[in-house]
Amino acid sequence: ATHMMWFRKDLRLEDNTALNYALTSLDKKDQLLCVFHLDEQQFRIGCHAHDYFFSTLNNFQKSAKEKGVFIYFLSGDLFSAFDNLKQQFPDWSDIYFNLDNRGYGLKRDLTALHFLESKEIRVTTFEENHLHQATEITKPDGSSYKKFTPYYKRWLSLSKPMFQPDFNIPNIKQIKQDSEFFKEGDKLFKKLLDLRQTDFSLEVGEERATERLNDFVLNQLDSYEQERDFPGIDGTSRLSSHLSTGSISIRKVFHACQAMPSSNGKDTFIKELAWRDFYHMIYHYHPDQYKEELIEKYRQLPWQTNEELFNQWKNGQTGYPIIDAAMRQLQQTGWMHNRLRMLVASFLTKDLLIDWRLGERYFAEQLIDYDAASNIGGWQWAASTGTDAVPYFRIFNPTTQGKKFDKDCLFIKTYLPELASLPAKFIHEPSTMSSKKQEEFQFQVGIDYPKPIVDHKLARAFALEWFK
Ligand code: FAD
Repeated sequence: ATHMMWFRKDLRLEDNTALNYALTSLDKKDQLLCVFHLDEQQFRIGCHAHDYFFSTLNNFQKSAKEKGVFIYFLSGDLFSAFDNLKQQFPDWSDIYFNLDNRGYGLKRDLTALHFLESKEIRVTTFEENHLHQATEITKPDGSSYKKFTPYYKRWLSLSKPMFQPDFNIPNIKQIKQDSEFFKEGDKLFKKLLDLRQTDFSLEVGEERATERLNDFVLNQLDSYEQERDFPGIDGTSRLSSHLSTGSISIRKVFHACQAMPSSNGKDTFIKELAWRDFYHMIYHYHPDQYKEELIEKYRQLPWQTNEELFNQWKNGQTGYPIIDAAMRQLQQTGWMHNRLRMLVASFLTKDLLIDWRLGERYFAEQLIDYDAASNIGGWQWAASTGTDAVPYFRIFNPTTQGKKFDKDCLFIKTYLPELASLPAKFIHEPSTMSSKKQEEFQFQVGIDYPKPIVDHKLARAFALEWFK
């Protein structure tokens, strides 16, 4: 019989639950077909997310081939593709995949499941993208947690799933033909690769992800607690984009850290992995939270949509250097440091009172590590409308935050070269330069760099009233 492994956001061979299961289920007479469906609904052409995902998929197909695993692309409507496959491989009996457990992916998986079963194909699925699945951790009365701290206590007390190291493809029969059948998929895949504006090839894939993890665990985990808030330091793992494409398994990340000696850095890092599970759980119980505020009383807030201000924020032209440097980092690299995500989201929602949903959508286009649950969770946290969110009266001051977390302007200078030759105190507040100073440094506020688009003090006072 023919068995099928259907890859999706789990682009790895190592510790891939569905793949491992498929391999152990095969009989000597069976053959394995590995596929990836190029789903038009999920293309985000022109976005960093598209470029990053397709660079990863390209790397995955090539490196899997080197290890003897052949991956084929399906194109067009999913059900027609399955129908064609069934005609091509009449003995197709089984399919294995790791479930996409939310949003569009979940709906697709559920319909695919019914469709396949109606064709008498046995479907075996797994939930494996988190350390604890969404419904696994509940309060003693069975209801879901709303606050992180009690959730985390329970999360910590439970044992974590094991990691299966080293992938060795057993001696199984694989479909290796360069048949006509997969030509269309191949053509589309090449086109999608060509549509990339940025080629992330050098930083993607299983090997890079493991190198990054090992480097982080050996050299940075210990100091993670002290360094993780400073965007000028490479103090965080940068594993989020690998986790979002599935180039590395969350179990591997967890166990690599767990094996290290105790330290505050280790504890804090593991807590971040719990936040990832927490937001996943919240999203599961509130699948509509991309549309509406979790806290009901805030659903009536008259969020603004001012396009001019929104564009200034998007393009890093707000006149607040730490905000602008962060937004340009996002535009240029597709990634942004966590502290900066909190700051720019606070600035958009509290200083500009612009709808957090617009910010969330913009992040979805730009982020190479886009993850709906963490992103919506992060935005609702910053907008004070989510579960366990920052209270509305705690509004970040972008200037003091810049001085505190980028004291020597290492980060700001990288992304705002127009400020790089000024002394640090003016880099943090260029608009406070006197005419004499502007002349001395041949720098014109409002021309070389924008004046602040809002006065933070006034904006803060206004936001406090607005929320009240
Ligand atoms: P590290 O500090 O090394 O953390 C390790 C891992 O823990 C991360 O890779 C991530 O998987 C997880 N993690 C860390 N912080 C959080 C958090 N606050 N919430 C959930 N998981 C966390 N993270 C995403 O993966 N995708 C997103 O789309 C996303 N959008 C965000 C939007 C906003 C407004 C905010 C405030 C945060 C968002 N985050 C998102 C969370 C966090 O900013 C990133 O996970 C982190 O910056 C990724 O960098 P890192 O891998 O170096 O993190």
